[in-house]
Formats: sequence, structure tokens, C-alpha cells
Amino acid sequence: MGNQMKSFQQAIDAAQQRYNELQEEGSRADLEEASDVLRSARSALVTFLTAGSKPCQVCGCMPHALVQPVGKGLQCIEIGCLNCPHRRVRGFTPALAVEAWNDGS
Ligand SMILES: [Zn+2]
Repeated sequence: MGNQMKSFQQAIDAAQQRYNELQEEGSRADLEEASDVLRSARSALVTFLTAGSKPCQVCGCMPHALVQPVGKGLQCIEIGCLNCPHRRVRGFTPALAVEAWNDGS
């Protein structure tokens, strides 16, 4: 997996950890801020993973993406439409997943 993707993932993990810690002892404002940071870290990853992808061919929405573990320490990228559960493709790199998505297969 690319280093760039790893750094997005690390940002998410760090934000998630901070959020979890604040749930124990943080103020409401701290928690909301941590939640915003987590949300934007996740959306940065999605933006990175879906770069170059076309809107969903069925509903026209921009696709969502996530990193899926596929066993043996391997991961793949899954791109799919949140409105159309059957529209979902996988690839071992973001570029391959985007290509498969854009092919519409
Ligand atoms: Zn759709």
C-alpha cells in the first residue's frame, strides 16, 4: 500500500484515539472538536481514494470509498455508492479501484 494512504490512515487512527480518550474525560466542546477532526480525516482519505472517479452511473452521487482488510495483512480499496448497495467494486490500489468503478462493471 502507498505511503500516502498510510499517512491518511494514521491521521484517522490518531483522531480516533484522541476521540476515544476524550470520551472518558473530555469536555463536550473537546469531544465535538475531536469528532470534527475525525470526520475530516476520514473524508480526506475518501477524497484521496476516489480521486478521478466518476459519479455513480445509476444515481449520479459521488462514490464513497473505504479500505477493507482481505486477510493475511493485505488490504484492498472498495469503492461503492451509498445509495446503491449493489454498485461496489474493489481494487488493490486506489487507481485500480477507481478504474473498475469508472468502467461500471
Ligand atoms: Zn448510486
